Amino acid sequence: MVDVEVVGSGPNGLAAAVVMARAGLSVRVHETAATIGGGSRSVELMEQDHLHDFCSAVHPMALASPFFRAFELSRRIGFAVPDVSFAHPLDGGRAGVAYRSMERTVAGLGVDGEAYRRLVQPLSDREQAILGVALHHVVRIPKHPVAALRFAGAVLDQGLPAWNRRFRTDEAKALVTGVMAHPVGTLPSLTGAGAGLVLNLLAHTVGWPIPVGGSQAIADVLALDVRDHGGEIVTGSRIESLAEVSDARVVLLDVAPKNFQAMARGRLTAAYEAALAAFTYGNAACKVDFILSGPVPWTHPELHRAGTAHLGGTREEIAAGEKEVNQGRHPASPYVLLSQPSSFDPTRAPEGRHTLWTYCHVPRGSTRDMAEAITAQIERFAPGFRDVVVRSHTTTASGLEAYNANYVGGDFSSGAVNLRQILARPVPSLQPWATPLKGVYLCSQSTPPGPGVHGMAGLNAAGLALRREFGLPVPYLGLEGMPPREPLLPLT
Ligand SMILES: Cc1cc2nc3c(=O)[nH]c(=O)nc-3n(C[C@H](O)[C@H](O)[C@H](O)COP(=O)(O)OP(=O)(O)OC[C@H]3O[C@@H](n4cnc5c(N)ncnc54)[C@H](O)[C@@H]3O)c2cc1C
Repeated sequence: MVDVEVVGSGPNGLAAAVVMARAGLSVRVHETAATIGGGSRSVELMEQDHLHDFCSAVHPMALASPFFRAFELSRRIGFAVPDVSFAHPLDGGRAGVAYRSMERTVAGLGVDGEAYRRLVQPLSDREQAILGVALHHVVRIPKHPVAALRFAGAVLDQGLPAWNRRFRTDEAKALVTGVMAHPVGTLPSLTGAGAGLVLNLLAHTVGWPIPVGGSQAIADVLALDVRDHGGEIVTGSRIESLAEVSDARVVLLDVAPKNFQAMARGRLTAAYEAALAAFTYGNAACKVDFILSGPVPWTHPELHRAGTAHLGGTREEIAAGEKEVNQGRHPASPYVLLSQPSSFDPTRAPEGRHTLWTYCHVPRGSTRDMAEAITAQIERFAPGFRDVVVRSHTTTASGLEAYNANYVGGDFSSGAVNLRQILARPVPSLQPWATPLKGVYLCSQSTPPGPGVHGMAGLNAAGLALRREFGLPVPYLGLEGMPPREPLLPLT
């Protein structure tokens, strides 16, 4: 018998386990898959020595989130931080480029440079205060009202139909749109602007880092810490019913509400069931991984220096593609997220070879292979791309759900990211991690603050459980006397 059972070893489940184990409690983590990590897992998908991030790949929040800062993640694993955080190619060899340096970004954006600075610089200057708003439950009085107001002003600026007022050039409009399109949904939207501006501000503070050895390194170092504090992790252990873990005083569930309902088997109150019935799942992703015989032959030279690129053309084209997804269609010219990890981390592919990570948005439940549409979109900005493709591997939206039951219909956010579900994730409550069942808490991305590898849902749920069930404070997570962080990899 253990004090705490954690179901699911995604970044939030492992963060919760770290908090509980460091509080001196006995902890066991169950993971249905053969390996740990959930959305932070790296695999040799196609060929030996070619490492692909199955889900998450780029980790600004892993460097900036309060949980990972307290955990001192950046001292425990290596991160390569490209000096181009993200770039957005356009037809005619043009591109918007978000350098880590604000000055270079402003200079590159020409007549829109100062307008970009006025939008993003005040947010970057208040990084931790804004993360304090965005990475907690928004239903509370903000600790930093000035930062919260600044952030709200920027969200209104880019999240409403008048979003074109600020910028004159395609480059600036597309650059900001590419990052606001990360959560699936129509554009402009307040939620897209909110999520996008958080990522955008981080581009100029911690940057958009790529973990050395893949996103798996994040899961592995969390698991190491759980074990170092006496915890146990059992893989190949699918929990079908809460009865299987009912001996523990606390159960932390890194699962989607739909799966929680199945596990609870009618034990939830009617009111809670009704609130969960209103929780909706969003549209989905089709993921395509590539092995390349050389780098992507980008037309615009700065794309080679970008860890991440957003493809799909102008602001208007991207908004049109996202609207099609929202209407249940597969856009012929989709918005594509792309990362080129092997350009910055030599552990990802043998010398001369490259791995490429891409996905596009598709309707929930889609079974369509979008490899050709994604390939054509890359070829548009990198003629000759097809010639360097050695192999590709597609995971359709329904394949994503088969990979991880939390991605309902391929919804990689485990719940639509819309205004209602920013406030009620998964139910309207000041403590939405708690459930009506004594000692049972949700800690997945279906709870605040929502998607991303930040560990904050795990920290929030575990902190609440520690206080309510054990009367304990959240333990100090940092480590004394750690050796200095390994130097970041030299950039190519
Ligand atoms: C294609 C894709 C790209 C992404 N890119 C990024 C990115 O670049 N950066 C970023 O920050 N985020 C990214 N994300 C989002 C990120 O991966 C998620 O937000 C994050 O992994 C959520 O963590 P979690 O712990 O809540 O759940 P998950 O990562 O979903 O982990 C849940 C775990 O629980 C296990 N589980 C579920 N049910 C059971 C059960 N009954 N019994 C036992 N085990 C169970 C699952 O197998 C899984 O391992 C991406 C996601 C996808 C799909």
